[in-house]
Amino acid sequence: MAKRQFKAESKKLLDLMINSIYTNREIFLRELVSNASDALDKLSYESLTNKKIKVNKKKLGIKIEVDKESRILTIEDNGIGMSKNELAEDLGTIAKSGTLAFKEGVTDKDKLNMIGQFGVGFYSSFMVSDKVIVESKKVGEDKAYKWTSNGVDGYEIEECDKDNNGTKITLHIKENGEEKYDYYLDDINIQKLIKKYSDYVTYPITMLILDEKKNKKTETDPINSMVPIWKKNKNKIKDEEYNSFYKDKYYDYVDPLRVIHTNAEGLVSYDAVLFIPGNPPFDFYMKDYKKGLELYSNGVLIMDKCEDLLPDYLNFVKGVVDSPDLTLNISRETLQQNRQLNIIAKNIEKKVLKELADMLENDRDNYEKFFKSFGVNIKFGVYDGYGAKKDDLKDLLIFYSSTEKKNVTLKEYVQRSLDDKIYYACGETIDSIDMMPKVESLKESGKEVLYLTEYVDEFALKMLDTYEDKKFVNVATDSVDLSTEIEKQALKRKNDDAKDMFDLMKNELGEEVVAVRYTNQLKNHPICLTSEGEITVEMQKVINAMPTDEHAEAKLVLEINENHEIAKKLQDLYKNDKETLKKYTKILYNEARLIEGLPVTNPTELSNLVCEMLSK
Ligand code: ADP
Repeated sequence: MAKRQFKAESKKLLDLMINSIYTNREIFLRELVSNASDALDKLSYESLTNKKIKVNKKKLGIKIEVDKESRILTIEDNGIGMSKNELAEDLGTIAKSGTLAFKEGVTDKDKLNMIGQFGVGFYSSFMVSDKVIVESKKVGEDKAYKWTSNGVDGYEIEECDKDNNGTKITLHIKENGEEKYDYYLDDINIQKLIKKYSDYVTYPITMLILDEKKNKKTETDPINSMVPIWKKNKNKIKDEEYNSFYKDKYYDYVDPLRVIHTNAEGLVSYDAVLFIPGNPPFDFYMKDYKKGLELYSNGVLIMDKCEDLLPDYLNFVKGVVDSPDLTLNISRETLQQNRQLNIIAKNIEKKVLKELADMLENDRDNYEKFFKSFGVNIKFGVYDGYGAKKDDLKDLLIFYSSTEKKNVTLKEYVQRSLDDKIYYACGETIDSIDMMPKVESLKESGKEVLYLTEYVDEFALKMLDTYEDKKFVNVATDSVDLSTEIEKQALKRKNDDAKDMFDLMKNELGEEVVAVRYTNQLKNHPICLTSEGEITVEMQKVINAMPTDEHAEAKLVLEINENHEIAKKLQDLYKNDKETLKKYTKILYNEARLIEGLPVTNPTELSNLVCEMLSK
């Protein structure tokens, strides 16, 4: 029989796993038990929808046996089983994206918890075995098949004898070397591992162990407590239990920031355990990332990711919901079920927001951590659906403050401020905003400015429009004017006097700007760009970077500091050398663009102009 080859990526990954993961090999057992548990879930679910499949729920389970002499460990389930094709497909290939991500600089400590997430859990068995045999019979099929591999150069599949549906995995445990593989050939050790990693598995995990008196093998009572964590009494659950449940299930390597455990009774009863992660889920930024919670009905898994249970902006929340009130075939989606799901979803949303508010108030450091990972989600939530949720979310926003030099809430801002406005400025980084001419002058006048560095920030504030009746004002738009009436009039006069010069300059810049004028708002800087109208420079950048046909142009104004040397110079040039004035105009305009983080319109022209001026 010809040996089949693992697909290329599998082979590389296998090498990587077997050779580079040294600690914590024991998780292989958790992976195999989870697979068995999944297979039992699938069978229970099938039996609900397929009349031909009869299942005796009481008989479903996972059996583990150790044979010290032959160095064999077997894990057997009576779940759904695999067809010949599935043995080849599911155990012979690994998702490509998974392989890629796995290879991307994983530090030692992270490695292990990342195994399961790429559909490579099964492969971890090769960390402790030099040969693995999988015998499986798919439910409803006549023939059983046997998959054999030494994990190095491919696998073989052949027909075999097997009475019941399900899967039996036989591991030939490696000989002791530096690592004492014998550890996995000891009944007590295996029991410990089951307790440690698989306690919440909802099917009984039993062992066949030698009864010395009778001198024969007998089946133990279930080793796992089987009560899923969400059904347990929450007062009796330790943090570690939630944390390890979370880390095992969602492949994170740090504890969640918050755990929400609720047992609701009323209109709809349900138990839920929800987690607010500290890190974005490993696949959060991948195109096919899907939000959702696991949905169970009376302990039977109905849906892996029930999207309806979470609003889009809470797509990072992980967890499990179990409700006896759901009729089982959710895929039929009757109105009744939608109504029940909606009620649960609304409650969950409320709980999560309450938890976040509590974290913000009582555990600021962790909230900062949360916001770094998921602040964008909250901002997205503010403007999504035309601001439908904005009132629920506005108090969860935090932004960097010019005066406090740290993140502040909007409430904190208005409590400090005597102004009727909330000032903000947008830019790439805190530092670049801090150096913006307009920001400098506002800071000098003692105003607090919020620094917005993320693309959604300004959209969120525009959606809020006001906070406690104070209007949000972008300091880069010309609506921020700190001068007195007298100063304003003096400036107007100066601008009127220089009208001809500015017309000439505006003419030189064509459609690029709507006006050139003096400003009295700049302290040290010679020039700046502001915008007139609804679309600000930052919004223009965001809209134009989006992969849609939408295009936005901010109406730009080139402003010149009336008190700066350059103002005098321009006047001189206007009188004596209009050609050079035109060149100055182009240089100044492009400098202003650079300050705003906009590209220079024509780099070669600018470079030539600057060199020409330098050579004078
Ligand atoms: P994952 O469990 O993360 O999908 P694995 O490498 O552990 O990845 O398993 C690959 C696939 O092989 C599973 O998704 C499942 O379809 C199948 N499989 C593994 N173990 C069993 C089992 N005991 N019974 C039925 N199918 C199984």
